Amino acid sequence: MSYTTKLNEEFKNLTLQKSFDQLLKMNFKSIIFTTSFGQEDQVLTDIIFKNKYPIKVVTLDTGRLFQATYKVYEENSKKYNRPIITYFPNQNEIEQLVTQKGPNSFYTSVENRKECCLIRKVKPLQRALKGADLWITGLRREQSLGRQNLSHFEYDDAFGLIKFNPLANWTLNETEDYLLENQVPQNELHQEGFLSIGCEPCTRALKPGEEIRAGRWWWENSKKECGLHLN
Ligand code: SF4
Repeated sequence: MSYTTKLNEEFKNLTLQKSFDQLLKMNFKSIIFTTSFGQEDQVLTDIIFKNKYPIKVVTLDTGRLFQATYKVYEENSKKYNRPIITYFPNQNEIEQLVTQKGPNSFYTSVENRKECCLIRKVKPLQRALKGADLWITGLRREQSLGRQNLSHFEYDDAFGLIKFNPLANWTLNETEDYLLENQVPQNELHQEGFLSIGCEPCTRALKPGEEIRAGRWWWENSKKECGLHLN
């Protein structure tokens, strides 16, 4: 039995709070949680900050985020008074990209879009995760077809470390209920039909009946991922 299979067995019936308590008894030395201030991330931010868990909360500022997203960032700072470690793209790389291809090259081809995601998201994430031995995410199975088999624990080949997805089997209703009950700050764009929120130029509101990630890179037929998570 692999280590992650064993962890999945051990954690399968634990509540969210208990799974964190159990996690912190294990000998992970550097645990990082990455947030983009979406609903699931806000649940985990609340659990981590309220309990003062020794987990680094990290965000990637791509430089192209919505103002509404920065508002959630600020509301978190006021509510929890704990730092959110913020990573930016490499200055030289982003200057070169925009100088050579303009500010909106992502609309012109999948290749150009992936290049922008690589510089603004993936490389900063590589820096953020350096030295970590566990990465916590807010991924849920319901979020996309590609995430249907998501486990609580899995090994992330791209970043070479174990990923913990404590909300893997949560529904959207459970997520929203938690946020309301605990008065957790939420992105006002959720009220306008945005569910999965990324960079401003690459995210639109959902139309009725569309799946959760349909509003991301809506002009593409490609898999709706940016390289942070491969499912
Ligand atoms: Fe660039 Fe859009 Fe990817 Fe953001 S989501 S990094 S703006 S391509």
